[in-house]
Formats: sequence, structure tokens, C-alpha cells
Amino acid sequence: MSHVHLSLQDAHDLAFNCLRDAGADDNNANAAAARMVQAEADKCYSHGLFRLAWYVKGVKSGRVNGTARPRINQLAPAVLQVNGDGGFAPYGQEIAHRPLVACARQQGIAALAFTNMFHIAAMWPEVEKLARDGLVAISVTASYPYVAPAGGSRPVFGTNPMGFAWPRGEKDPLVFDQASSSTARGEIMIAARDGHTVPETAGVGPNGETTTDPNVVLQGAQLGFGGYKGASLAMMIELLAGPLIGDFLSIEAKSDDGGNGGPPKGGELIIAMDPAMFGDADGFLAHGEKLFESIAEQDGTRLPGERRFANRAATKTDGIQVPQALWDEISALRD
Ligand code: NDP
Repeated sequence: MSHVHLSLQDAHDLAFNCLRDAGADDNNANAAAARMVQAEADKCYSHGLFRLAWYVKGVKSGRVNGTARPRINQLAPAVLQVNGDGGFAPYGQEIAHRPLVACARQQGIAALAFTNMFHIAAMWPEVEKLARDGLVAISVTASYPYVAPAGGSRPVFGTNPMGFAWPRGEKDPLVFDQASSSTARGEIMIAARDGHTVPETAGVGPNGETTTDPNVVLQGAQLGFGGYKGASLAMMIELLAGPLIGDFLSIEAKSDDGGNGGPPKGGELIIAMDPAMFGDADGFLAHGEKLFESIAEQDGTRLPGERRFANRAATKTDGIQVPQALWDEISALRD
């Protein structure tokens, strides 16, 4: 497959200009472009430029507010809310970061309820940023219904991801970010496109039948990782990112979309904790390192996040490679 080489700045300018052409203002276009390029830089392609056409379509159709003005409300001493004004998540997340850090440092723990935003995307950018500010962070969001409850065959839950980050002083933070489904939806779609099978754990057919055919899974439902345990985590995330903060369940996001096929509208919950206020201000960093050392001393292990950090270091100088088909799709956006 041929590729087009871009520097990170070129990629940012490209995404920014496409979004501006579609009707987004500078702030919203800049934040969304930065988020996509951040994913490209870390080689997390499913949230990189691959999403640009989706974003442009959302703004052009008027469904997503490209000139959103997110507003912050303090709901309780340790609970902030950001109303995203119907825009894409990155600008609201950008605006909310400093108030969340300040609140967590003051209260010891703070929650941020993001509502009324489109496509929360990956969890790691927010939790990593909080950990770089010395906080421990957890983030969850729901999406569209793709995953069946344990024992069921109809999708109810999103592939609901959870992100976690732990500060490590001068080192890169410990960050993991994973879906609660056993297989990423994108992987199932790619297997269907390329004529490959998927593992039996990926999903079931419309009647709950066991299958390795990705097309049958796409007509049926994905499964949570680890059977009922992953399904329970997906359920928990639905409740935290939906009813708790007054936003959509995945099934409601699908009804709201009305078959438009654009990015899902919904919420995100972030919890930030200041370890300096949990009883071991002087010892928590070294104590955490003890755990990481006992992992790293075993051959075959690595810490989650290390792949991304290595990719980030490489793409900073090498730039990124955009598959020709994606490049053509993006070029057509500007015609
Ligand atoms: P992966 O299974 O690719 O990775 C999950 C986590 O496991 C990452 O933190 C990864 O670190 C870590 N990891 C992978 N291999 C190892 C290993 N051998 N040892 C230790 N850690 C490891 O992610 P998913 O496919 O589950 O999710 C991909 C992205 O999609 C996430 O960013 C998620 O937030 C997003 N997503 C968003 C959804 C939404 O609705 N908004 C829905 C579902 C997913 P590393 O990054 O370093 O490889």
C-alpha cells in the first residue's frame, strides 16, 4: 500500500483547514485537529485522520456545532460540569482541563461531567495530561450500542472505553486506555472487508449464535472482554457517562443520530485525584514505582502506554505516513 508522508505540522494544518472549510471556527477546528494529530503521532490510527471525514460531515450537516462555546458550571465543591454546546469534545476538554486540576488540588478529588458533546474519542489524552499535572485520573465514555449484555444477543452497550493514568514524576506517566469489548469494532470491520475470520469471543450473530464470521457479528452484537465481567464494566460505564451526568446511554445516542451515521453525541466522566491529599504525599511515587519495577523485571512484559510514547518520539522527527486511500478521501473533502 502506498503512503503520503506528512510532518505533524502539515497534518495539523490539513485537518484544521478541512474543518475551517466545513464551517468550524478557529478554536474548535484547532482543538479537533490537534486531537487527531496527537492520535496519529502515537500511531493510534482509529482516532487519527481516519476520523476527519466523519468530523467534516458532522459540521457540514449542521448536526455538530462547529462554533461551540463550551460552558463550565460548578455543581458541587468537587463536581464540575462542562456543557459542550453541541460541539466536538476536544475544545470542551481543552477549556475544562485547568479548572479540573485546580478543583482536584483544592478538594483532593474532583469529578468532571462532560455533556452535550460529540465523539469523545480516545480516553488517554485527557488522563495522560492530568497525570502530567501530578494527578491520578480515570475517564470513561459510552458511544453507540454495539455490545450485548452477558447471555444476550442484542447490542445495548457501547464498546465503552476506560482510561487510567498515574503520575511518575519526571518519567512519562503510566497510562492505559482500553475498550470494554473483547475486540475493537474497527478490527471486526477490517476483518469483514478483508475476508478474515474473527475469534469466537468477538461477538455473536443476531440469534445469539456462535460465529467467527465478522459480517455475522456486525449484524448481531459484540461481546465484552472476559465474558460477563467485561459486560458489567461496559454497564458501569454506561451508567457513569450517561444517567449519572444526565447524558445519553448508547441506545439513546443511536436514536438521537437517527441513522445519520455521524459521530455519537454523549458524555464523559473524568475523576481526578491529587495523591498529595490521600495520606502518603511523600511516599506514593516511590511506592508506585515498586509495582512497575516488579512488572518490568519479567521478560515479555511492558507497561501500557510505552508503545505510544515510543511512537510519539519517533513521529516527532519522522512525521507520519498516511495511507493513499485515506489521503484521497481527505483531499476530496477540500474539493
Ligand atoms: P488496545 O487493546 O490496543 O490497548 C489497550 C491498552 O492496553 C493500551 O493502553 C495499550 O497500551 C495496552 N497494552 C496493549 N498491549 C499491551 C501489553 N502487551 N502489555 C501491557 N499493556 C498493553 O486498545 P483498544 O482496542 O481496547 O482501544 C483502542 C482505543 O480506542 C482506546 O484509545 C479507546 O479509548 C478507544 N475507544 C474509544 C471508544 C469510544 O466510544 N470513544 C470505544 C472503544 C475504544 P499502548 O497504547 O502502549 O499499546
